[in-house]
Amino acid sequence: MAKEKVAQLSESYFVNNSFIKRNREIIPIVNPSTLENIGNIPILHDSDVIDAIDSAVAALKGWGALSASNRSKLLTDWHDLILENQNLLAEILVLEQGKPFLEAQKEIIYGAGFIKWFAAEAEKLSGYIAEGTKENQKIMLEYEPVGVVAAITPWNFPSAMITRKIAPAIAAGCTIVLKPSELTPFSALALAELAKKANIPAGVLNIITGKAEQIGKIFAEDFRIRKLSFTGSSRVGKILYENSALTLKKLSLELGGNAPFIVFEDANLELAASHLLLSKLRNMGQACIAPNRIFLHNNIHDKFLSFITDKFNNIKVGDGNNQSVNAGPLINKQALDKLERLIADAVTKGAKVLIGGSKATTYFDKDDNEVTASLEQNFFLPTILVNCTNDMNIFHEEIFGPILAIYKFESIDDVIKQANNTQYGLASYIFTQSTSLAFKVSSELDFGIVGINEGIISNNIGAFGGRKDSGFGVEGSKLGILEFLNTKYICLNYQII
Ligand code: NAP
Repeated sequence: MAKEKVAQLSESYFVNNSFIKRNREIIPIVNPSTLENIGNIPILHDSDVIDAIDSAVAALKGWGALSASNRSKLLTDWHDLILENQNLLAEILVLEQGKPFLEAQKEIIYGAGFIKWFAAEAEKLSGYIAEGTKENQKIMLEYEPVGVVAAITPWNFPSAMITRKIAPAIAAGCTIVLKPSELTPFSALALAELAKKANIPAGVLNIITGKAEQIGKIFAEDFRIRKLSFTGSSRVGKILYENSALTLKKLSLELGGNAPFIVFEDANLELAASHLLLSKLRNMGQACIAPNRIFLHNNIHDKFLSFITDKFNNIKVGDGNNQSVNAGPLINKQALDKLERLIADAVTKGAKVLIGGSKATTYFDKDDNEVTASLEQNFFLPTILVNCTNDMNIFHEEIFGPILAIYKFESIDDVIKQANNTQYGLASYIFTQSTSLAFKVSSELDFGIVGINEGIISNNIGAFGGRKDSGFGVEGSKLGILEFLNTKYICLNYQII
């Protein structure tokens, strides 16, 4: 089913509620498990991108004028269709991204959750009326949609990163043009097809494909786009920030992370170990909030390791279409090269590989046969590195892979200092049974998100966002919709003259 759907969506993009096929150069899309070609996407010309923006501009007035409850109803219908089609959407996600099917299905449900959440938030928006500073005066505040939105999303969560942007944007009354990663475009196109089925009007949601740098530049420089929402690397976030200065548009930048995961000596070690594995191995560690630096108190270091090594040894790596596999491939060769480079640097500086440490030589295919991995395939062994120190590159760089880099600590102040010793500021994690210690450390961690005895922190209710090189802006929560709204202050003198 998924292969047929992808073949149908192949070589098209979605503008004004039409799947358009033009004679354009193409980018082939591969299944990262098998390296088979699953379809192609067109490289749009500048004029195609402008057409998509025109379409969003044309739809803006009508969409913004709909009542919030009508917008909410359409979003709810879209949400329901996504849940009805969750298996197909999950299969498409596995085909283009590689993660295990059950993880993909969870992503579809998690992503749909943002649509349901913002459908409700649309109806709750309210400004205020206050007394003025003099007689016969009222001070009023109301919200208005910011206008046409552009969005750029990454490959690691090809469905949820998209709904997390589209849902608040269109709930707020904006229209949107979105460019998914060239590695995982079909999840986005399949979501758009369901949005059309849910009767979301033409031009409200547009999905375009092609060369990222070219499209990013057009988005940044087009004055009609009043908001750019980006999820991806800090490097690209900074380019978009700079280019957007020309049109001074509103920005949300959800960028990279370097999450500390601190286990204090009084922690419930079994709980900490199970949360660490869930949080780290989701999507093979290819997540911005994945624990990147694991700080273990000296007194529990060896005991904690014994909990995780057993579990690490039981991870089955292979094709996401094999239901008994719990870790898929890395997205591509560059991802694998980066892990090898980080491990080599760490080992040279004194780290020791406890488990894994290299590319997997065999993996389980979709029929559960253990087969030899070819040179080009990118399956990687879940890895534990001990004796890590802050002079290693792995301390400072986002790993984006299944490597647990383990550091020891002795004092509370020292571990807080080490945890904050990074230019990133997205997620952080603390495991302790002491409430006062949890509050002290939480207040001193310079990160936008703190999980206390909790490793699974991303959901539609929490305010997801970072600081420093992890960017700014919030997704999810009551605040997420505000990113797509302007305030209007009205000062009314109602004295009859
Ligand atoms: P990336 O290279 O920055 O790509 C992200 C998106 O930007 C893709 O759609 C990519 O397009 C596009 N892009 C690349 N170069 C561009 C340019 N010059 N101008 C405009 N757009 C450009 O990041 P990635 O490797 O795909 O994703 C991993 C990064 O995303 C990690 O750093 C991760 O931490 C971060 N991330 C952050 C969050 C969060 O919420 N904070 C969530 C998930 C991921 P193409 O793929 O088509 O080249």
